[in-house]
Amino acid sequence: MKKIILTGDRPTGRLHLGHYVGSLKRRVELQNSGEFDKVFIMIADAQALTDNADNPEKIRQNIIEVALDYLSCGLDPEKSTIFIQSQISELTELTFYYMDLVTVQRLQRNPTVKQEIQLRGFAENNDAGDNRPGIPVGFFCYPISQAADITAFKATTVPVGEDQEPMIEQTREIVRKFNSVYAPVLVEPDILLPDNNACRRLPGTDGKAKMSKSLGNCIYLSDCEEDVRKKVMSMYTDPLHVQVSDPGHVEGNTVFTYLDAFCCPDHFSEFWPEYASLDELKDHYRRGGLGDVKIKKFLNSVLQCQLAPIRERRKELEKDIPYVYDVLRKGSEQAREVAARTLSEVKHAMRIDYFDDEELMRSQALKFKAE
Ligand code: ATP
Ligand code: MG
Repeated sequence: MKKIILTGDRPTGRLHLGHYVGSLKRRVELQNSGEFDKVFIMIADAQALTDNADNPEKIRQNIIEVALDYLSCGLDPEKSTIFIQSQISELTELTFYYMDLVTVQRLQRNPTVKQEIQLRGFAENNDAGDNRPGIPVGFFCYPISQAADITAFKATTVPVGEDQEPMIEQTREIVRKFNSVYAPVLVEPDILLPDNNACRRLPGTDGKAKMSKSLGNCIYLSDCEEDVRKKVMSMYTDPLHVQVSDPGHVEGNTVFTYLDAFCCPDHFSEFWPEYASLDELKDHYRRGGLGDVKIKKFLNSVLQCQLAPIRERRKELEKDIPYVYDVLRKGSEQAREVAARTLSEVKHAMRIDYFDDEELMRSQALKFKAE
């Protein structure tokens, strides 16, 4: 069986460090590994519209931002097909058919959807006096549309952050249901989480559980050097570590979580040779006598050396925006061909391929003749 990757991001803003360690970095490695027959990278604008219906301009503007982030991180249009979700109408069709295979109750149990409903401030019940907006149906159903995205390309591997686990599980269920009810057309995908635990759900600079565009607690890949420094220097650490001499906590301390995610032994020899490893640094912090400012300065150096080449490539790409749109247009054309093939197999399996089925016409003609 072919090994195929599909993954993507919502164009609700520029991409941040969470995207980078959760999925983007891995995609580039996988793309370059030669291990995969195809790599599809999707800008999920239709999904972004499910909770931004009143702000289409935001989505429209951010498509190019996400594409620039992709290319500056090393996604290569010669090796990966980069496309825009809404341009593949086959995905919408598949979503509609898959809706028949999922219950409202199953969707309501999806923990990520539950969390995101709360995060976005949608009213969950019909309580009188609750003035919050209700849940858009499209938003509620987005796990089904994600199943359509993944299965349209027969993806075997989906590199994503931990928040996507329930989505991949739901996709697998839809695949099993479809294949058993109709015919074995669809492929069950596997999730590929980062090996490094700190990367699976990178916290925000404010210490909140997840760095997220919607929470405004992000360091963006395209932030300038000074903005990154300011954000690092104001990061949440250990509230109990008041004096430098106080013993500090490493768990739940965002600066250390970021070091877990980004730092390698070479960074010590380059920027802070007093310590041989992160474990040594952590031990000192736990004992007390090590101030937050020093660690933040080190983290800043670690991040800047990874972000600098991305920032530079972005500057170059920004000079040729028509090229970036061309990449997206060509990618969308290629993606559409693949999705159309799957959709036609799906329709055949579902017995809704009336005009392609000569046998149907012949048998109906015979039936009416006999009557
Ligand atoms: P939004 O707030 O619009 O939902 P987001 O910041 O959550 O945006 P998405 O576009 O929903 O980003 O996520 C795209 C991909 O990046 C997914 O694979 C997701 O798992 C991963 N990802 C996003 N944020 C993080 C994070 N903080 N840590 C690890 N992975 C993340
Ligand atoms: Mg999200």
